[in-house]
Amino acid sequence: MTEVNITEWLQHNATFVVLSTFLVLAVLESLNPASKFDHFTRTRWANNILFYIIIFALNKFTGPITALLTAYAAEQLNIGLFNHYSFPILFAIAIGVLTIDLMHYATHRMYHHYDSLWKMHKVHHCDFDLDITNAWRFHPFEIILNSIFFIAVISLLGLPPIVLLINYLFVAFMNYIEHSRITLPKFLENKTRWILITPTLHRIHHTVPREDHDNNYGTIFSIWDRLLGTLRIEPSPGNSIENLGLKEYRNIKAISVWRSLWMPFAK
Ligand SMILES: [Zn+2]
Repeated sequence: MTEVNITEWLQHNATFVVLSTFLVLAVLESLNPASKFDHFTRTRWANNILFYIIIFALNKFTGPITALLTAYAAEQLNIGLFNHYSFPILFAIAIGVLTIDLMHYATHRMYHHYDSLWKMHKVHHCDFDLDITNAWRFHPFEIILNSIFFIAVISLLGLPPIVLLINYLFVAFMNYIEHSRITLPKFLENKTRWILITPTLHRIHHTVPREDHDNNYGTIFSIWDRLLGTLRIEPSPGNSIENLGLKEYRNIKAISVWRSLWMPFAK
């Protein structure tokens, strides 16, 4: 199979691959949940499905703009490392995926650090439970801001479409698996977390105390957290991976879609 064939296959099948991943993980987490589903689950799911619809509609609108801006930056401004030099495709994939992941680490850390950005990102953190549907729970502003950083990075690198498609699938897969309730067997957790963000590492990132949720910022790789001193493999003493959400949002009404959308503007 040539690079063009693989790119075409990925373009046609990306939605199917992502949907299949979601369904398999949804079945697995309901068979062996890391924590019990409670009576708020249905309302939480309704909220998170609404977030999915909002983000899906937003992506339909911003997707073509993102593609246009990226193509403009790559062709008209003639920037982009990979436009000027030819590298083996595997090298381009490795550099592309690692750089975009480092960008996600940096922006995620920024969202936690600056109060104005935290007001937007806490929409993702305020849910007091966690399952695969939380992979959709993001404020639209965060999606737009991420797109701007994404355009800047891929324009500077001039990454070919195959790299972007592989990165998209990798990010979608990791986003679903790390929000799921699945607990990996201990030996697998210990080995995997050397390189990748595991569901347990990300659960710690969703716990209430700030000293815990200001860690494990990675999306795909745990190496950035490890290198930059933000990796936490256990909750701090007195905390647990069941203690999810934020202390100021302890009832289901406070995290409704409408109230969540208003969070960046609230005092
Ligand atoms: Zn976060």
